[in-house]
Amino acid sequence: MEKNILIYAQDITILNFLRSFFESHKKYSPVILKREITHLKSACLKKKPAALLVESPFGLKHLEASEIPCPVIALISSDSLTSGIRSVLKADVDSYLISPFYQEDLDYKLKVAMARRNWIKHLDTKKKDLESLLEFTCLISATLDPGEALHLIVQKIAKIIRVTHCSIISIDTGDQNSAYVVSSYKDSGTTNTRLDLGKHPEIKQAILLKKPLLVKDVFKDPLMKDVVDILKPLGIRSIAVFPVIFRDEIIGILLLRASKAGRTFTAREMNLCSSIANASANALYNAFLHEKVEREKIQLERLAITDYMTGIYNIRYFYSRLEDEFSRSVRYNTPMVCIMFDIDYFKRINDTYGHRIGDIVLREFAQLIRGRTRRSDIFARYGGEEFIMILPEIQREEAIMKAEELRKVVEGYRFMGLEDNDRITVSMGIACIPDEQIKTPDDLISVTDQALFAAKHKGRNQIIVFPDNL
Ligand code: GH3
Ligand code: MG
Ligand code: MG
Repeated sequence: MEKNILIYAQDITILNFLRSFFESHKKYSPVILKREITHLKSACLKKKPAALLVESPFGLKHLEASEIPCPVIALISSDSLTSGIRSVLKADVDSYLISPFYQEDLDYKLKVAMARRNWIKHLDTKKKDLESLLEFTCLISATLDPGEALHLIVQKIAKIIRVTHCSIISIDTGDQNSAYVVSSYKDSGTTNTRLDLGKHPEIKQAILLKKPLLVKDVFKDPLMKDVVDILKPLGIRSIAVFPVIFRDEIIGILLLRASKAGRTFTAREMNLCSSIANASANALYNAFLHEKVEREKIQLERLAITDYMTGIYNIRYFYSRLEDEFSRSVRYNTPMVCIMFDIDYFKRINDTYGHRIGDIVLREFAQLIRGRTRRSDIFARYGGEEFIMILPEIQREEAIMKAEELRKVVEGYRFMGLEDNDRITVSMGIACIPDEQIKTPDDLISVTDQALFAAKHKGRNQIIVFPDNL
């Protein structure tokens, strides 16, 4: 704590008294202001003293005690007793000494003034903390977007507490060793990264105790002995963990880490973060729930467009995309190709190996072809052992080459479940737009089917392009 004492006086008796006082009270460092200073307030703001000792009435002429950011003690010499006291009252200074001065009196007054100042400072910090907590509670309760709420929580904490890392972690209820970073201050890249709780004994312990936990120094805390080597290169020195509890259950973890040596979290910071963790419980619960619902929604959407057995698109999705791609191709006059596949003599596979192996071969076939398509191609199961593909924005020659390449891949592929030297082949029909005979998506399907039929008819394991080879 600084003990600089600012002095503004001209009276020789006062100055002499102060000189001898400070000579015998070395814990204070006196700074005597020059006489011409009229702006005591700015001098105090600049030097930030622990107290101001000022002669009255001389120094109090232009002064209001409330404007001075430190305790003020006035000294009044007996020569100017009346005017000195009047000035003290006018300036609203509540602590003063009248000559004859005694060192014990000044020492006591300084001690009281400083204790009061510290107390006021403490109250002021508390007030600020409560204000930020209130502001924070209003903010997150007004935030409808759960992701935004998480972001607000970490940003707010990072703003009021000096931390190196601040993250919110969701716990995987199904797996006691896993957790996920859902929001992070500074390290936005770490979001959604999995945490191995085996490397975070402090989180495990806080979950176990259901209480905030402080690791003052990771190098000294026995809890951290197995992970010190991991934390050392990251420069982390102190860690605070706050379980976020909703309806008696831990739904998340607030994790703060400081890297500066000697920097740990104060009792005030621990209390404040505990309050923030409590205030966040509702928002976090909503955020995690929202995330779960979103994940399930995506999964359901994917399921709705997927063929269960082969894992590629189903026919319903294919038709919806066909309409879009067809009209896009017509509108922008870009080429588009449709390929129909039918596995040759597939009945033989079922008859030889059974339906279960037949199913596996169908799945393998679908995945084999899908692995060789572009992202923009739409490859779906048309039904049974027939498949269909739309290739937007591809020239007809390129599509024919690609189909030929796929035919050869299938011909040479060793399918699991089949005898070593057993192979399957595929026949394909191809049609391209623009083509004056193809006016609707149904026309396109119909002529591609004709081409496929011709490929079968001409001996299978080949490609027929509409209308060229028909
Ligand atoms: P080709 O196309 O060369 O004329 O002969 P193919 O034997 O492939 O044709 P066909 O239309 O005679 O028989 C199709 C076979 O595909 C019969 C059917 O049991 C089989 N199949 C269709 N869907 C499935 C399926 O989901 N699983 C299995 N294992 N077999 C299927
Ligand atoms: Mg068939
Ligand atoms: Mg077939």
